[in-house]
Formats: sequence, structure tokens, C-alpha cells
Amino acid sequence: MQEFDLLVVGGGPGGYVAAIRAAQRGLSVGVVEKERPGGVCLNWGCIPTKAMLRSAEVYETVLHAADFGVQVEGVALDYDTVRRRKDSVVKGLTDGVAGLLKSNGVTVINGHARFTGPTTVDVYPTGEPPLGADGPRYAAEPSGAAFEQVRAKDVIIATGSVPVQLPIEGADLPGVITSDGAFGLTEVPKRIAIVGGSAVGAEWASLFATLGSEVSIIEMQKTLVPAEDAEVGKALGRSFSKRGIKVLTEATVSKIEQAKSGLKVTVDGAKAQQIDADVVLIGVGRKPNTAHLDLDKTGVGVDERGFIQVDDKLRTNVEHVYAIGDVTGKALLAHVASHQGVVAAETIAGQHAAIDYNVIPAATFTHPEIASVGLTEEQATAAGHEIVTAKFPFAALGRAQTYGDTEGFLKIVAGKKYGEVLGVHIIGPSASDLITEGALAIALEATLDELAETIHAHPTLGEVGMEAAMAALGLPIHVAPPRKR
Ligand SMILES: Cc1cc2nc3c(=O)[nH]c(=O)nc-3n(C[C@H](O)[C@H](O)[C@H](O)COP(=O)(O)OP(=O)(O)OC[C@H]3O[C@@H](n4cnc5c(N)ncnc54)[C@H](O)[C@@H]3O)c2cc1C
Repeated sequence: MQEFDLLVVGGGPGGYVAAIRAAQRGLSVGVVEKERPGGVCLNWGCIPTKAMLRSAEVYETVLHAADFGVQVEGVALDYDTVRRRKDSVVKGLTDGVAGLLKSNGVTVINGHARFTGPTTVDVYPTGEPPLGADGPRYAAEPSGAAFEQVRAKDVIIATGSVPVQLPIEGADLPGVITSDGAFGLTEVPKRIAIVGGSAVGAEWASLFATLGSEVSIIEMQKTLVPAEDAEVGKALGRSFSKRGIKVLTEATVSKIEQAKSGLKVTVDGAKAQQIDADVVLIGVGRKPNTAHLDLDKTGVGVDERGFIQVDDKLRTNVEHVYAIGDVTGKALLAHVASHQGVVAAETIAGQHAAIDYNVIPAATFTHPEIASVGLTEEQATAAGHEIVTAKFPFAALGRAQTYGDTEGFLKIVAGKKYGEVLGVHIIGPSASDLITEGALAIALEATLDELAETIHAHPTLGEVGMEAAMAALGLPIHVAPPRKR
């Protein structure tokens, strides 16, 4: 039997970060991982999608190179190379994680863990899936005589999440895939219908539209990316429509049928219709990945959806058992999983640490990009804040003009009396990088004055936050002043 101070079940961005931090604190640490190091994020989520979106961005730029005075002939997309590049980026990063675990003295056990008690597991060998596999192997039930027993003083459960299967007629037809299955497509689909307009669905829609697919996206809520500020969601819908994507909001898919050529998708709602597609990608919702984990042997409490309940130190209701990442259902984001991992590891190592969920930036890598932190206008009002809001358009920034990418805006939400920044919402170029200033502003309880008075380098996209703060103070420089009544 192998024994450790800490056993981490799952080697995603939650698990591997927790393991490294615990090892740095002097604990002996084991990680059980049934697939490849890096979890969904590195293998089937954040990284491969962004690698492919980068190919799309390069393709788009080259297609419009003439606008910049650069003549290019014979531009063509080579989807095999797009996929190979994605695999090579993934391999570089997952090898890097394996190397980091090794250099920190963490023991990695390749296999599927099943709990036999709160801090004991049996590990069934699985073998790594090949690079470029079209998703993790969720259903495989581990069994057999060859297993290894592992015991630890403390355990962190970091098994992540898996896509929800929608109970739609025809959801099991060939050609109907989840986000994982999209990595298995060997060519760009001619026509693709995407069910679900949140971050995952919207990113795939943006990617395939740029690569030349005829894309439809169907979202149940009023706007795409419904977790975002409504103005941002509306702006993305308009932008997608301009790019030729068919955007159907307040619409649900009730049926998918095999047609003579491809699939027929029945959409209900105000714009009820049938859509023809070669591929239907279902990108709605995720559930905790606890299948074949024998979680009941630990006694940990779960909520009504099966997510493991934890406190601000990531402790479950069972002593010595912690949970982090998607499996806790707090915010299904890689950076939240990693931060939770650090807090859990520090707590186990006897250090003081606790997590605060009030400042969580999130980014969606569509074109145009989206990022936000803090309260939306609707949330701030519902929470009883008296607020002031302002938007500053990228079109009014010199840097955006030189880039040739002027779509979108930054919207700031602040308290009316003191001007404390409550939320920042961006749609436009480099939104995912620009949001860090908003996160820092909220974390440090910065005010509109402080943002406006901080000198920002010129010409940069970063000026957008400073200019929005000035606008919220009623003193905009680079847009027309508010009309006097
Ligand atoms: C298409 C897509 C795009 C995304 N893009 C982003 C993004 O841009 N930014 C962002 O922040 N987030 C993004 N996410 C979400 C992000 O991937 C997750 O929030 C993150 O991976 C969660 O990390 P985790 O460590 O909790 O779990 P995971 O990454 O899911 O890792 C869990 C690991 O546990 C292993 N495991 C499970 N059960 C067992 C078992 N019984 N025994 C052994 N091992 C086990 C799994 O194999 C897996 O490797 C995206 C997700 C998807 C699907």
C-alpha cells in the first residue's frame, strides 16, 4: 500500500496546483490521474480551444491583409495543421505540468481512483489516452483484480466536471456531439448548429464561423452569454449576426432528426423554425464528475445537483477530506479551481488561507472577446446599490484604430456616492487581458477617481478603463460629454 500525507484525486488545474503547493510546504503528495495531467482545461477545454481560435484569428487577419496594405495570394485553411498545432500546444503544456509535478517531488499514479473510505482509495490502471483524443473517457467503469491501494492523512477531491446530456429526442444520433466531440472533427463542418450560447457554445460558434462554417447558435435566455451584463450579451448577438451567424435567443431545441442529408433541428420559441446542419454541438451545462468514484464511501455531503459542498477553506463535512474545482460547482473556471487548490493545500499544511468569491474575472474568447469581473448592472441594482454606469467605446481609442479592431466597449458599474468600482464588463479587443485592471480595482476597493487619475500609457487599449471611469464621473475627454438637459 502506498501512503502519503496528502492524496489528490484528479490532476487538472485544481489538483495539480494543490499538489505542487502542498509539496512546497513539505508534505509527501500523491496525485491519481486517470487521463493526462492538466485535466479538461489543458486537454479538452481552455487551451485547445484557444489554440484553435488563434489559428482562426490568423486566418481572418491574413484574409483581410490587403486592408493593411499587405497583398497575400492563395490564402487557404489547412485544418489538419490547425489540429496538429493545437495538439502540440497541449503536449507542451501537459508535459510541462508533468515536469513540474516531478520536480516538486509529487508522485503521479496513472489510474482511476475509487474510494474505499474517506482517506483510502483503490487505483485501477487506465493508461493515458492518446494525444488529440476527442475527449476524456467518462463512461469507462474501472474494474478488475489489478489495483493498487493508497492511503493518506488528508485527501483532496479534484475530479472536475463532465458535459450534461440534454434529454432531447435525437441527441444520440451520429453527428450530435458535445464540446469534447468537437475535437474529433477532422474537417470544418459545412453547417453546424450549436445548442447553448454560453461561453463554450459561443467560442465554438465564433471559431467555426471564422473557419467558414454556416453557423446557427440557439440560446434559451434573452441574450447570448447570459451570465454577462445584458448589454454585452446583446452586443455579441449583434456582432455574430453581422458575421453571418444565425443567432436565435429565447429559443429551445425540442428535436433533432436524421434528414436526407445531415440533421434537422427543430427550434421552438418566438422564432420557431427548422435548421439543417451536418453537425449539432450540444454545449449546455456541466455536472460533477463523480461517476465510479464511490463517493458515498467518504460520507461527504453534496448539493441537489451532486456538487460537493465545501466551506471557504475547501473543507467538506468529513474531517481530512477536501474538494476543489468544478466538482464543487462554485464557478466552473480553471483559475478558480487553481486558487481553491492553493487554499486547500495551505489549509492542510497548517497555513492561514480562505477563498473570497467576490472577485472572479471570467473571459470568453469569441471575436469580439468578452471579459468581466464583479457585479453586472442588473446584479448591482438588485443588490440595492445606488449606481452610476458608463461605457467607453474602443472606436474612440487611438490604439484600437491602429489595430484595425474597434468593435465593442468597456462598461463600468460603480457606487453613486463614493464611486467604488463594483463591476467591469468588456467586449472588444484583448478584453481577457484588460479585465485584470478591473479585478485589481475591485479587490483594492478602488474608486472611479483613482482609476481616472492613474496615468495610463498612450496609445494602449488599457486606456479604455481610465476613459470609462472619467465618463462615469461625467468628465469624459475622448467622447462627447453627456447632453445637458
Ligand atoms: C471547451 C471548454 C473550454 C473552456 N475554457 C475555459 C477557459 O477559457 N477559461 C477557464 O477558466 N475555464 C475554461 N473551461 C473550464 C475549465 O476547463 C474547468 O473549469 C477546469 O478544467 C476545472 O478544473 P478541475 O481541476 O476542477 O477539473 P478538471 O480539469 O476536469 O480535472 C479533473 C481531472 O480529474 C481526473 N479524474 C476524474 N475522476 C477521476 C478518478 N476517479 N480517478 C482519477 N482521476 C480522475 C480527470 O481525468 C481530470 O483530468 C473550459 C471548459 C471547456 C469544456
